[in-house]
Amino acid sequence: MSTFTAINPRDGAPVGPEFPEATPADISAAAARAAAAFERWRRVPPKERAKALRAAANALADARDEIIATVDLEAALGDARINSELARTIGQLHAFGDLLDEGAYVEAIIDRANPAATPPRPELRRMLQPLGPVAVFTPSNFPLAYGVAGGDTASALAAGCPVLVKGHPSQPATSELCARIVRAALAQTAGGADVLQLVHGRTPDTGRGVVTAPEITAVGFTGSVAAGRALFDVAAARPEPIPFYGELGSLNPLFIGPGALTERGADIAAGLSASISMGAGQFCTKPGLVFVPDSDAGRDFVTMLAARLDAAPAGVLLNENIKHLLANKMQATLLVPGSKCATRRDWPPDRGFHVVPSLFVTDDATFAAFPELREEHFGPVSIVILCAPDRMPALATQLGGHLTGTVHAAPGDAAWAAPLADALAQHVGRLIWNGYPTGVTVVPAMQHGGPYPSSTSSLHSAVGTTAIRRFLRPVAYQNVPDAMLPPELQAANPMGIERLVNGRRTYDAL
Ligand code: NAP
Repeated sequence: MSTFTAINPRDGAPVGPEFPEATPADISAAAARAAAAFERWRRVPPKERAKALRAAANALADARDEIIATVDLEAALGDARINSELARTIGQLHAFGDLLDEGAYVEAIIDRANPAATPPRPELRRMLQPLGPVAVFTPSNFPLAYGVAGGDTASALAAGCPVLVKGHPSQPATSELCARIVRAALAQTAGGADVLQLVHGRTPDTGRGVVTAPEITAVGFTGSVAAGRALFDVAAARPEPIPFYGELGSLNPLFIGPGALTERGADIAAGLSASISMGAGQFCTKPGLVFVPDSDAGRDFVTMLAARLDAAPAGVLLNENIKHLLANKMQATLLVPGSKCATRRDWPPDRGFHVVPSLFVTDDATFAAFPELREEHFGPVSIVILCAPDRMPALATQLGGHLTGTVHAAPGDAAWAAPLADALAQHVGRLIWNGYPTGVTVVPAMQHGGPYPSSTSSLHSAVGTTAIRRFLRPVAYQNVPDAMLPPELQAANPMGIERLVNGRRTYDAL
């Protein structure tokens, strides 16, 4: 049996017990348990599912101290960050509970029969229903909020889908602890413990085994473009292809207008430095490309930003793989003729994974000639591209898909900013004005997902309650007797939900 242990990012030493890599038989058994649980869970009324999610949330809150200590040992994120991530994780579960209580998420649509129409119309009633067992892959950089009990799991469970989690190999004890807490809480509810399954692994075979398990009907993945794309292709190549919702890497381009630079260049340098270095830059929303006017003011801005980053504290990367990939990527960027490093510090020599922020600077022509400058540096590293402001709208259309795009503009920049914002909105999931992309507010209006490669399906969000839509499919019932319909579609509207009846939103019975 193959086993592995977590590594403490602060000193590179092994921590915690050995965890067994799941065998194909383990994965089959977990998928079979999830499929059996689906037959029960999909019939549990939404308000009962809400109670189960709240029970899980409360159990996580009760175990706060143990969770924080475990995550910190494996991820070195510090108490404040872990505490806020735990609050987000708990809040997400409650938010989905509220959504289920309200009930309209099933998008009930009723078009009454009209035998006198030409051609005659049958009675049609449509609503969203759970897909089936969902596989969830957790990333290393959100051990809780996108971990075992994180956003993908919460949205799938809310939809009525059991979840089979493939835990990230950097944080097995965190995964195991959260699964134990949530399963124990669910065991006391209509859900039962088996709606949540966990397997461990650190080889691609485990991930592939989870995606190809015949019982799995969809995948929620958060992680790198390389791994996400590999597993997306596996999902598409199954005899029965399934939806794969991959939230992948993003460069989050940020554009600064000439007026904004003059008015508040120093403030932008301070805000941007914090956004680049926060959490050692290990956020999918870290600003990785910064477009700055090629002028004296632009070059002064680069000097200010580099000085800020040189003064920022060292951070800790999550694992050796991320450190190795970042070091190689920075080396490759340094070798690009026409690109230079504006910051002065080297990484501290240590046995752990400490890192300091870095800033590269290049020009428009170099950026166009070297496509490798459009690849993610996962860590506290950004590239400034000095270019003419009127080139920025065209550049925005050539960058591919991103989670976010940001514009910094002063009132005098309006003529420059309008076409840029319009171009950018075609390529990102969230357009930010005079702000910074890190920090994803968890509300229904949030959009976290964008055109490929930032996500594999730009139609949905991985953050906020609309994320439930990924794990629901529409079913239309034609002329089906009222008593045989799901309650959400019955004439009396026993669930009391808002429905669209003959084009009009109403809570009324038919
Ligand atoms: P990762 O290395 O891609 O790992 C994610 C999962 O994929 C792990 O379970 C990993 O397990 C598995 N995996 C890796 N390579 C695989 C392969 N070839 N075949 C099958 N499975 C494979 O990502 P990470 O280190 O956790 O996170 C860093 C990346 O995630 C960054 O690029 C970041 O931008 C991105 N991210 C994106 C978002 C978003 O919302 N868009 C959020 C957070 C992070 P094994 O190693 O066991 O195979």
